[in-house]
Amino acid sequence: MAVATLTIDLAALVENWRALDAKSASNVETAAVVKADGYGCDAGRVSAALSKAGAKTFFVAAAEEGIAVRKNTPNDTTIYVFSGGCMGDHDILKANNLVPLLNSPEQVQEYAAEDSPFGIQLDSGMNRLGLEPHEFNALRDQIIAAEPEILMSHLACADEPDHPMNTQQRSAFKAMTDGLTIPKSLAATGGTLLGPDYHFDLTRPGVGLYGGFPFTDAAPVVRVSIPVIQTRTVEVGEAVGYAAFWQAKRTSKVATIAAGYADGLIRQMGNHTNDHRVNLFAGDTPCPLIGRVSMDMITVDITDLDQTPTHLDILCDHQTVDDLANAAGTIGYEILTSLGGRYNRVYEGG
Ligand SMILES: *Cc1c(COP(=O)(O)O)cnc(C)c1O
Repeated sequence: MAVATLTIDLAALVENWRALDAKSASNVETAAVVKADGYGCDAGRVSAALSKAGAKTFFVAAAEEGIAVRKNTPNDTTIYVFSGGCMGDHDILKANNLVPLLNSPEQVQEYAAEDSPFGIQLDSGMNRLGLEPHEFNALRDQIIAAEPEILMSHLACADEPDHPMNTQQRSAFKAMTDGLTIPKSLAATGGTLLGPDYHFDLTRPGVGLYGGFPFTDAAPVVRVSIPVIQTRTVEVGEAVGYAAFWQAKRTSKVATIAAGYADGLIRQMGNHTNDHRVNLFAGDTPCPLIGRVSMDMITVDITDLDQTPTHLDILCDHQTVDDLANAAGTIGYEILTSLGGRYNRVYEGG
């Protein structure tokens, strides 16, 4: 088969969820964020594996994303929607028993008056989603009387432990919520790693479950192996690929492999000349990516291998999503969610 194989290790995902769960006290619930189709890993399979392991609460970005989670988890699972009760979401939320995180006074007026469950998202300083402190204070009595399931907020800088925003946001969140007996949540992966001051009643890690920074101890979840579709010898001075970007300085053996930027292997990864930053691995042996990344192909210098490999690995134990992200000037989240639909997807350990 001339498409690359994307292997998703659901046992490693569960191991990461357990490891993050162990960072907080036993009375703190650990939920799971499965937005963007489970960070590209399949929200249905991810939520099924995590609920078998004991996760009872999930978060998605949009109401539509909650449907796959609802179908793959027990009926008593709680599924929150970060974008709240947007226009037109009412029927989807109701039909799938999804809980909106209300973000504006208008949404509070619409949803809190009803009998269905809701949570409240508070803005503690990120200025992206949630009620501002003055909006919350104005509606406080009405909100409390309607018994929200959760009060939550989100940290802007939690992957930088020393950033002053962390303590500022924690204080702002506490100022709004101290004394209330409603469950509270502030921490995603970064906040979970900041320690118990940030855990409140429920943590909601996302990227760490899938093996990404800032959970540097995570087990790798995603592997990508790409078939070799042609090899050739390139003489000194000959160029390889678009823009003739790479030129052979020695007689070289070049492998063309069947994945490219359309598979989320971002073109910028190949824009380095002298200090190539991405390798393809033949087992444990690194081979440099050379030339431009094309839409469907990548070229690799395999001169130093004894044998022509049938496939080369770009995501493996030797090279993580964050290594690829650094080479491409982006973050692991973007690598994971860009991987795309062309792969032969294999799920292990489910
Ligand atoms: C995406 C998101 C999370 C999960 O964040 P990670 O950094 O992936 O752990 C948690 N809360 C909110 C509001 C989010 O948008």
